[in-house]
Amino acid sequence: MLIAQISDPHVRADGGGAAGIDGGERLARALARAAARAPRPAAIVLSGDLVERGEHAEYERLAAIVRACPLPIWPMTGNHDDRDAMAAVFPRVARADDGRWRYAVVVGGVRLIVTDSLEPGRASGRLGDAQLGWLDATLASDAGTPAIVFVHHPPPSTGFTHIDRSALVDADALAQVIRRHRCVVRVACGHLHVPLTMNWAGTTLTACPSVAHRFALDLRAGGRIAARSAPGAFQLHRWHDGALHTYTVSLDEEEPT
Ligand SMILES: [Zn+2]
Repeated sequence: MLIAQISDPHVRADGGGAAGIDGGERLARALARAAARAPRPAAIVLSGDLVERGEHAEYERLAAIVRACPLPIWPMTGNHDDRDAMAAVFPRVARADDGRWRYAVVVGGVRLIVTDSLEPGRASGRLGDAQLGWLDATLASDAGTPAIVFVHHPPPSTGFTHIDRSALVDADALAQVIRRHRCVVRVACGHLHVPLTMNWAGTTLTACPSVAHRFALDLRAGGRIAARSAPGAFQLHRWHDGALHTYTVSLDEEEPT
């Protein structure tokens, strides 16, 4: 069973983007590639920063792109998104009463638990006590089913100075929740724009690279943010025999024939 994760397309209405990359074109190509694969992914998670400025025109372009995809798409917010404007793109996804895009779905025997770490006006993320309580209860309600917890913002320990400054501010509280539930086979993030794998909270945490621009891998103290051109990539999470395998697929690779 495969789940595709596509992250941080930063779609703009005008086709522009950081490092000269059109995130909309990249997202369209990644969705087509994921849908054309054999075996076919059971679903696709878009892990935040779906658009660049949270504007309606950007979401209109995003809607046209996702409409062309035959696979189920599960969206989440990133710090560049607007909760209400996003609703026009995904009318069938039920949001929480407070408007957050947090929900859980079962796909192929694995639970996808999507959280919403957007704090409007800030680059950093926060889940908040209410959402952490919901996550705790949701995990407890089905302890026998493996769960992937999706959070846009990683914890502030990546070594990227600029990302750590805009990380998940209540990561310690999230770690406490995750540690209580052995069913969590992965915490899957975006935000970093480069791939990362780390041990965290008694499980594995991964960050999916952006399908659009990358950030230069600068692990020096005080390293600054720098957008870089890259071919774009997405990830395939393969649940098999009690383990979650994660592959990174570059858009410039040829598909097997
Ligand atoms: Zn981003």
